[in-house]
Amino acid sequence: MADGEPTRIMMGANESTIKGYPHASISSRGAFDWTLQKIVRFNISGFKLLFLHVQVPDEDGQSLSSRCVLTTWTAYRRNRDKARGLHLLEYFVNRCHAIGISCEAWIKKGDPKEIICHEVKRVQPDFLVVGRRGLGPFQRVFVGTVSEFCSKHAECPVLTIKRPAYPRTLSMTDPPEFQAL
Ligand code: AMP
Repeated sequence: MADGEPTRIMMGANESTIKGYPHASISSRGAFDWTLQKIVRFNISGFKLLFLHVQVPDEDGQSLSSRCVLTTWTAYRRNRDKARGLHLLEYFVNRCHAIGISCEAWIKKGDPKEIICHEVKRVQPDFLVVGRRGLGPFQRVFVGTVSEFCSKHAECPVLTIKRPAYPRTLSMTDPPEFQAL
């Protein structure tokens, strides 16, 4: 990193399992808040945040027999997913703009844990921040944890922020899902 260059923090942003698109998950919003409060603090110009959202491709729809219908349906879904992904990232980008911190955001498709590690290799951030849902041992085996995989495989330091266990101070801009915590 050259002198005067901001520290580049890459952050994984996923959708909420409670509300789904376009709401960002509690764990990724918690990790973002924590990063702002504990790392960025007042040094706004010292950091750049890089938000990556990975969309998992749907597998349903493949049984449709008509190629034309399939193409239209696929195009519709692609546009719908893109709009939802952008909306999700808007939450983080808008907050960065409000604070005045520099940021970038982009969407990729695939297996989130694999894609995050691939993007780390490509973008070479100073470190990666991911949330953690706090899955139990059973879910860890069957659902798999993104944060654990990234900690082991990402080619940069990884900071894992556990999902808050109690309600934090709410702001009026929080989506309702957060307020239900
Ligand atoms: P875990 O609970 O260990 O599966 O990790 C959850 C965290 O991984 C989230 O807070 C995000 O930071 C990151 N993550 C999970 N899925 C995705 C995704 N589809 N796109 C980007 N980041 C993700």
